[in-house]
Amino acid sequence: MEILDGKKLSQKVLESVKSKVEKLEKKPHLVVILVGSDPASQIYVRNKKLAAEKVGIKSTVINFPSDIEENILLKKIEELNNAVDVTGILVQLPLPEQIDKNKVITSISPKKDVDGFTPENVGKLAAGLEPYYYPATPQGIIMLLNEYNIKLEGADAVILGRSNIVGKPMAQMLLKHNATVTICHSYTKDIEDKIKTADILISAVGKNIVRCKMGNKNSVIVDVGIHRDSNGKLCGDVDFDFVSPSCAYISPVPGGVGPMTIASLMYNASIIY
Ligand code: NAP
Repeated sequence: MEILDGKKLSQKVLESVKSKVEKLEKKPHLVVILVGSDPASQIYVRNKKLAAEKVGIKSTVINFPSDIEENILLKKIEELNNAVDVTGILVQLPLPEQIDKNKVITSISPKKDVDGFTPENVGKLAAGLEPYYYPATPQGIIMLLNEYNIKLEGADAVILGRSNIVGKPMAQMLLKHNATVTICHSYTKDIEDKIKTADILISAVGKNIVRCKMGNKNSVIVDVGIHRDSNGKLCGDVDFDFVSPSCAYISPVPGGVGPMTIASLMYNASIIY
């Protein structure tokens, strides 16, 4: 069994983004909008800012109070859409209840939507067209699979989770690479039987859900999930010690998909339209 080392590859990706940015005449500028003071969101935003600084991308964080009115947020996004010195806009999720998340995402210019969440970018991906940006987590996973020369064409890929940020775009991207895709969710029957059929298993659920041996010794497991166990230890979706001897490749948590997501986001943030 070999580890899919996301930490190592993310450094390589960040270095190549850095050297690309150094050569750019017009430098990218990422604006991150944070609403409220959710501690996890604050950490994510700080990490994105640090990563941007590391690769020479200017970043600005705009922190609104949690009781901000939706129209003020929308106005700010419109202003950023029109600002020539701003090349990327990212709204940290989740947003407070009084704000319609879909309205906010839809208001971002698709050409500055570095998360790839706007309907235009999602629609292009679904239609097999080239979006301005691919969502960071699935794009980072494809980079990781490519690095280890894992064949996607014709592979039976099983995805656990159907979120808009991981499961669904992951399915579209694997289809684009000619994999055969099965998506599982909380209503899926006999999930273990489906897991066992996978050549490539991508798990994005957020619970310890993969606890069976793989049906195929050449299978590849990508663990996207992050949660803390009862002792506060950071865990993925996969019971690593039990499952890993039955597969060929597996991504660890931490050190797998997490660092790849950040690197992939910086890759996006370096693209200017
Ligand atoms: P999410 O919105 O939290 O949704 C979870 C998905 O899992 C849903 O589709 C849900 O099904 C499904 N699910 C829940 N219980 C299930 C069960 N028992 N069997 C099968 N499917 C089940 O998903 P997300 O935002 O994609 O996040 C998933 C995990 O990935 C979280 O732990 C998150 O922290 C992590 N994550 C990590 C990164 C990273 O960079 N490492 C990036 C993004 C997310 P329904 O749709 O039917 O409810």
